[in-house]
Amino acid sequence: MATAASGYDVIVIGLGGMGSAAAYHLAARGQRVLGLEKYTAAHAQGSSHGGSRIIRQSYFEDPAYVPLLLRGYELWEQLAADSGREVYRLTGGLYLGPPECPTVAGSVRAALEWSLPHELLDVAAVRRRFPNFTPAPSDIAIYEPNGGFARPEETVQAHIGLALRSGATLSFGEPVLDWAETDSGVAVTTARTTYRAEQLIVCPGAWAPELLAEFGIPITVERQVQYWLEPTGGTAAFEDQPVYISENDSGMQIYGFPAIDGPSGGVKTAFFRKGIACTPDTIDRIVHPREIREMRERVTQLLPGLDGPAVHTATCMYANTPDQHFVVARHPDRTRVTIACGFSGHGFKFVPVVGEILADLAIGEQTRHPIALFDPQRLVTA
Ligand SMILES: Cc1cc2nc3c(=O)[nH]c(=O)nc-3n(C[C@H](O)[C@H](O)[C@H](O)COP(=O)(O)OP(=O)(O)OC[C@H]3O[C@@H](n4cnc5c(N)ncnc54)[C@H](O)[C@@H]3O)c2cc1C
Repeated sequence: MATAASGYDVIVIGLGGMGSAAAYHLAARGQRVLGLEKYTAAHAQGSSHGGSRIIRQSYFEDPAYVPLLLRGYELWEQLAADSGREVYRLTGGLYLGPPECPTVAGSVRAALEWSLPHELLDVAAVRRRFPNFTPAPSDIAIYEPNGGFARPEETVQAHIGLALRSGATLSFGEPVLDWAETDSGVAVTTARTTYRAEQLIVCPGAWAPELLAEFGIPITVERQVQYWLEPTGGTAAFEDQPVYISENDSGMQIYGFPAIDGPSGGVKTAFFRKGIACTPDTIDRIVHPREIREMRERVTQLLPGLDGPAVHTATCMYANTPDQHFVVARHPDRTRVTIACGFSGHGFKFVPVVGEILADLAIGEQTRHPIALFDPQRLVTA
């Protein structure tokens, strides 16, 4: 029979983006932390891989995210300094589309509401400032100097390294089979043993339907593809450009990054929401030629120079809630369990601040951060 290991204040299940940040913030506050991860550190099976994630502040999804982003940016800077890694880079962000579309109008609304630095550009100004871009004649753009990108693998490694340095115990290649609340705490069972602690944080990414089934939070998992296309004229012209999101008349959004992977690394681009329903077990990891064709056709309307072959592709999963807002809460029916899931394809820029919030919730039940939008009760219809 397995022996029961105990003596932890908090167990964190899942050490991807959110879980590694939570483990670090807890350990830095002197908590005895155990983190359990199914795969290796910064693996490519979940949602936190592919070299880059857009970060931005003029948040078209809802201005309610802005205070979290402002705190998040402070934590990004601190994480870079504490870890010595380039976890993020500011490049400016360009969001283009018809004036009334969510990408443009929503970004402008958030920028105005929070007095965030931004400029509005017409097509001629975009062409002058950023010659790679050829927006549609009816487009306008908002340029945000604080846009940029985070590096997901570097970020996860940074949080893991700092968590270990602060005394956390982190175990990789150890999938959690079951967890339960007991009279005196929580019990978490893996193939090796059962661990006990005072509090539990569950950050399961695309495995939420499996690990959080009993909460009835409707999360659907989607396969997404990241494409690194070779520019016909070489990567140099793409090195110094902003990250971008571009919406067309039919509401389809694409996004992309500058060239950050060297002369043969291509330039990364993707559709924002063009997923295919899947599970972590059924996802098709092969990227098909017709998908690459479709990506090239769409992206070259905006960036005609990005017309070469794909040098690399990678699949990734979104874990979507019905309203695409996150779930971050101490669960009302389970006083020892805090959950963070349903990041719906836009969570990475929040990783450091979600780590701080999860540590607040597990230690003290409350957080000073505004997270009412992330209450799971809005989604449960029982
Ligand atoms: C293609 C793509 C592009 C994206 N672009 C952006 C972007 O530009 N900007 C942005 O802000 N966000 C973006 N996102 C979203 C963002 O990356 C995710 O919201 C974020 O990575 C989710 O982090 P997570 O911790 O919830 O999931 P993950 O990082 O996947 O972590 C979950 C972890 O739980 C572990 N786990 C699961 N089950 C178990 C178990 N039983 N036992 C132990 N461990 C377990 C998994 O192995 C995994 O490591 C993008 C996502 C994708 C896929």
